[in-house]
Amino acid sequence: MINSDNMANSFDISVHSLAGNGRDGLCSGRLPLAQTEEGRRAPSLTVDDHAKQQATFYLETFGCQMNEHDSEKVAGVLLARGYKQVESVEAASVVLYNTCSIREKAAQKVFSRLGEFRFAQRQDQLIGVLGCVAQQEGEKIFTRAPWVNLVCGSASYRKLPQLLAELEAGNRRVTGLETDTDETFETEVTRRDNPWRAYLTIIEGCDKACSYCVVPFTRGPERSRSSASILEEVRKLAGAGYTEVQLLGQTVNSYADPSARGMRFSELLVAVAEVQGIRRVRFTTSHPRDFGKDIVEAMETVPEVCEHVHLPVQSGSTKVLRAMARTYTRDEYLEKIAMLRAAKREISLTTDIIVGFPGETDKDFEETLSLLDAAQYDGAFSFKYSPRPNTPSLKIADAIPEEEKSRRLALLMEKQREIQRARNEKLVGRHFEVMVEGKSRRENQWSGHTSSNKVMNFTSREQESLGDYLQVKVISATPNSLVGEKLSAAAIHGV
Ligand code: SAM
Ligand code: SF4
Repeated sequence: MINSDNMANSFDISVHSLAGNGRDGLCSGRLPLAQTEEGRRAPSLTVDDHAKQQATFYLETFGCQMNEHDSEKVAGVLLARGYKQVESVEAASVVLYNTCSIREKAAQKVFSRLGEFRFAQRQDQLIGVLGCVAQQEGEKIFTRAPWVNLVCGSASYRKLPQLLAELEAGNRRVTGLETDTDETFETEVTRRDNPWRAYLTIIEGCDKACSYCVVPFTRGPERSRSSASILEEVRKLAGAGYTEVQLLGQTVNSYADPSARGMRFSELLVAVAEVQGIRRVRFTTSHPRDFGKDIVEAMETVPEVCEHVHLPVQSGSTKVLRAMARTYTRDEYLEKIAMLRAAKREISLTTDIIVGFPGETDKDFEETLSLLDAAQYDGAFSFKYSPRPNTPSLKIADAIPEEEKSRRLALLMEKQREIQRARNEKLVGRHFEVMVEGKSRRENQWSGHTSSNKVMNFTSREQESLGDYLQVKVISATPNSLVGEKLSAAAIHGV
C-alpha cells in the first residue's frame, strides 16, 4: 500500500455493488426548478407526470473512507424515500457529488465535474453538492456554479429528504450547512456497498486543529456517538450477516462515550468484538496523542480486534510537527511505535505523511526518511502539502516549490516501497487467516485481506464462498500484496 495523493479506499479492495434496488417510488409535489434568473425554463411536469417516472439518483464520491461511508448513508436515505440508484448521470433525476476538499486537487475535481454538467443538465434534473466542498464553500457554490440546486454538508444528511422536498416544491436553491449537530450518525437507513465489511462512524468532526487541515472547518467539532447506539447497530449488522466492522472517525481513538456508561475507546473495541457473529473489528484513523497502552492491550487480548493500526505521523521532524500543530514530537511518536512493536501480538502499522510543508528543509525531510527506517511501516499514504483555505499554515512563509515537493514525494515513496517489499518477503512461508472478498477473472484466483489488513491474492481450486474465512500460506510477496495458496484441512492439522 504505497499511495500518493489519494486517500480513497485506504484499506479496501473496492467491492462495489451499486444498489439500484430501491423501492419503485415517487417524489411528491412538482418536479423542481422554477423559472430562474439564468433563464432556465421550469419543467412543466405535474405530480402525475412525475409519478409515471422513476425518481432516480446518481451519486459519485470523492475522498476518504468517511466520505464513502457518508455516501452509504445518503444512498440509504434516498432509497428509503423511493429513489432508485442509477449508474449514469444521464439516467438520474438527481445528480449528487459527495466531495472532498482535503487537498486542492480533490476540490478542483469537483468543480470540473460541475463544469461538465453545466451544458449536459436536463431541465428535469437537479444537481447537489454534498460533503466537505459544500461545507467549505457554502452558498458561494451557487455563484460559481449557478446551475447547482443543493449544497449540503455531512452533518445535515438526515435532512436530505426535507431539502429535496423543498426543491420539489419549487425552491430553486436549498442548503444544509450546520456543523455542530450529531444527527449525522443516525440516518434511519444506511445502504452498505461492501457486503462483508460494514463501516460505522463512531466519532464525527475533529478538535485537533492541525495547521494544514480543513477537517475541523468542514466537519465541525468532535462529537462521539453513544456506545449503546453503536452496539445496537453492530448487533443489527451481525444479524444481517456481517462478520467484519470498521469503526470510523477522523481521530477514532479520541472517542469519548457521551452516555452515562462512559466507555473508553478500548472498552468499546472489546464490546464490539464481543457481539455474537463479529469476527473482525477494525478502526481508523488513530491520532498518536490519544493512542494509549489500553488499546494495545485490547488488541493483545481480544483476537477479533484486528492487528492493524493506522497511525499518521505526517513528518519525522519535530520542528515541522510543531509547525503542523500535531501535538507530539518525533521521539514521542517513536515511543508509540515502540509500544506497538512490543505488543504480544504482531501489529501491522500504516501511516500518512505530508512532504513539502512550508519551511521543511532538506534536513527535516531527511528526518522523515529516517523515521521510515525506524518505524518500518507496512504501508504509507504520502501527500504533497496543499495549501487550504482557512487553515493557519497558509500564513507560514517559505513555501516549497512544486518540483521540490514532487522530488521529495518520489524519494519517500521509493524508500517506503523497498521497506514494504522487505517486510512482505519476510512473511513468505507463513499462514494467515483471510476473508474471501473477491474472485479474479483468472481461474482459481481469489483475493481478500488478512487481519493485519494485507491484501492476499491466492489460489484455490475449490469454489469458495465470498465472505468465508480461510487459512492461506504465503508463497511470494510484492511491496503491496501477498501471493498465497489456500491450505488444505490436512495441512492445517499437520496430517
Ligand atoms: N485525521 C487523520 C489524522 O489525524 O491523521 C487524517 C485525516 S485526513 C482526511 C487524511 C490525510 O490527508 C492526513 O493524514 C494528511 O496526511 C493528509 N492531508 C490533510 N490535509 C492536507 C493538506 N493540506 N495537504 C496535504 N495533505 C493533507
Ligand atoms: Fe485534520 Fe489533524 Fe483533525 Fe486529522 S487530527 S482531521 S489531520 S485536524
